[in-house]
Amino acid sequence: MTDTKVRQLNDAELVAIASSALATAFVQPADAPMPDSEVLPCTLGCSSCCYLPVNVTVPEVVHALSAARTVLDIVVLGERISAASAQTRGLDGSDRLRARVACPLLDNQGACTIYNARPAYCRAYNARSSRDACDRLIGLGRGLADPTAVIVADPAPFDAAFAAQLCIDRDLEHAGAQSPHLDLSHALAVLIAKPLTYIEWLQGDVDAWVRSR
Ligand code: SF4
Repeated sequence: MTDTKVRQLNDAELVAIASSALATAFVQPADAPMPDSEVLPCTLGCSSCCYLPVNVTVPEVVHALSAARTVLDIVVLGERISAASAQTRGLDGSDRLRARVACPLLDNQGACTIYNARPAYCRAYNARSSRDACDRLIGLGRGLADPTAVIVADPAPFDAAFAAQLCIDRDLEHAGAQSPHLDLSHALAVLIAKPLTYIEWLQGDVDAWVRSR
């Protein structure tokens, strides 16, 4: 199905849509109090949340993959993305937690390889409870995840992530395109396997994202 009203956005424009929405939603007001670092256990190498599914829009995926291509070997990147997608495909939330499959963009030191281009919900995940609670919930190195672990999080970054994706949805709507929300690992796998999937999507074929997995 072809919608003649759809403007053919290119990948640079999709990256610009994502980065603009992220910069706007996560801007720190000049008069906002500095976060209390003593109550935030999130630090470099603390990566439990990178084992969770990440909800993304198409511009965020294109943005993430463009950044990843500049820092990772393309063959290694493709293998990591394919493996992560294959290991999590079809798993529901709890089975995915138990599978403990890291995001393919996480490096061996537990750092995000595309930190400045990471999607909205990657910026939202935070904890004000102990780092141990995160590790217990994800079950890193401890067998199955511990369902009794309780994570206390600041809701504000989640509101910002929601706002960023809403802004992206509206930008795409103005261009005449639908805005499917996708799983980061699977959407990366689609783009790696078929780089022009987003062109089929802009032509009205939203199912291209699913069919290409
Ligand atoms: S994109 Fe970066 S921050 Fe987001 S899950 Fe992957 S490694 Fe973690």
